[in-house]
Amino acid sequence: MRFAWPGDNPRNPRQVAGRTNVRSVKASPQTQLRLLQLADLDAELARLDHRRRGLPEVAELARLEARASELKDDLVVTETELGDLAREQSRAERDVEQVRTRIERDRARLDAGQVSAARELASLQSEIENLHRRQGDLEEIVLDLMERRETLESRQAELTAEQDSLGGEMAEVAARRDAALKEIDEHAAKASDQRGSVAAEVPADLLGLYDQIRKTKGVGAAMLRAGRCEGCHLSLNAADLNVIRGSAPDDVIRCEECRRILVRTPESGL
Ligand SMILES: [Zn+2]
Repeated sequence: MRFAWPGDNPRNPRQVAGRTNVRSVKASPQTQLRLLQLADLDAELARLDHRRRGLPEVAELARLEARASELKDDLVVTETELGDLAREQSRAERDVEQVRTRIERDRARLDAGQVSAARELASLQSEIENLHRRQGDLEEIVLDLMERRETLESRQAELTAEQDSLGGEMAEVAARRDAALKEIDEHAAKASDQRGSVAAEVPADLLGLYDQIRKTKGVGAAMLRAGRCEGCHLSLNAADLNVIRGSAPDDVIRCEECRRILVRTPESGL
């Protein structure tokens, strides 16, 4: 690994273009340490953001909402079928009623002795028999329709019960999600405030460099610890470390591997 002077990366044209600006960035060791605090706070904010987007309650709610939508559709289908069956049943019951009326009328004629001719009598008796059979058939249809309605009604009750319990479960999960979001937001607000205070103590040029690196790398500055860049976790070779040893404390140095600002501390192993 070759140690790089700030902004000195001829392989990267953007780096070369920004060289004159970047090269002039100097900051006291104290100020450079602020960058580590910033990096910690930015990492905290990124963690919170990641947690916010990955909340299990959000996925759970999506699953419950999908089920609720299925239930709603099933209920519409069931209720439509129930309506159809109710109409069919009324029709069949009206038919039964008509047949019953006819039987009563025929029987009244018979009882009143209005029919005396043997042939007419036999025809009337046969008609009554047929009407009885017809009545029996229709009553069976009514019974069958009632059974189907009962089945559908218990299905409707099951669906409604599941809908109710799902509603409760959704409210409970939403409350947990909201509580988690509130907690995350509180932490994020605190970290943001802290970040604001720390950033206020960093000169604009250094902060600009840090933020520019952060946008592409996620982390803008890293500690040099025991000869290793904490940003990319690669160890610097002896020559690179020697160059760093020889640089002024207010030089802002960068990792040749990951281009992050490398902050020196007593733990740097220099
Ligand atoms: Zn690095």
